[in-house]
Amino acid sequence: MLRIRQAAALIFLCSLGAAVTSTVALPAPTVCLAIGAMNLHRLPDGALTDSPLPEDQQRFVELARAARARIASTFGPVESTPVLVFFTHPDRIGPFRLNSYGSTPTIGGRACVMVGPNGQNIDVVAHELMHGEIHHRTGYWQRWLRLPAWFDEGVAMQVDYRSRYALSEQDASGADAVQKLNTFSAFFSGDAKTVVYNYARAKYVVASWLHRVGVKSLYQCLERMKRGESFAEAMAE
Ligand SMILES: [Zn+2]
Repeated sequence: MLRIRQAAALIFLCSLGAAVTSTVALPAPTVCLAIGAMNLHRLPDGALTDSPLPEDQQRFVELARAARARIASTFGPVESTPVLVFFTHPDRIGPFRLNSYGSTPTIGGRACVMVGPNGQNIDVVAHELMHGEIHHRTGYWQRWLRLPAWFDEGVAMQVDYRSRYALSEQDASGADAVQKLNTFSAFFSGDAKTVVYNYARAKYVVASWLHRVGVKSLYQCLERMKRGESFAEAMAE
């Protein structure tokens, strides 16, 4: 645990999918730093991929465009420019082991959206790009130290429409308890079913808050945190 926490102080890693707990890999921030030195193909929009196939590359460009459009239509224009990488080999890119769905490791101001072979859909790509946008607008340290994990994931889930993360009426009454999961270690602890439940509750609670304050005010709230306000101050209704 200590080793994980030490690593967590240096990285910010969000992972998706049932394999979440088994594929959190410490090299993720390393690959974010080293990605420029790897032998990858650069796409017309600046994204990178290990696939040499034109049909893959065309599909990735379209996915990124559609995902950014979804974020823009939900929250407003996308300003962040994370390193976006699509990899096609299961669980790894080059020598690095990664989440096969998606992850967004960050180091300082640098963010890398790593989309794996199981995450090549608009929901996962928009979800991960949203983490990049949160990182950009909140700032690394404020995000890391003061933005609760449940909120970060709940915001990303607003542009992730996968039905498995929709909360049932039966479970909605207990959704508020997700707000105790302030750290990523707490949010992602437990089995796959528990993590899916955490995502669903976070999505529900953040959607309720956005309904009250207005979806288009999210960026302003994040920028208030960047200027030094606490989470509670910035998100006050
Ligand atoms: Zn996430």
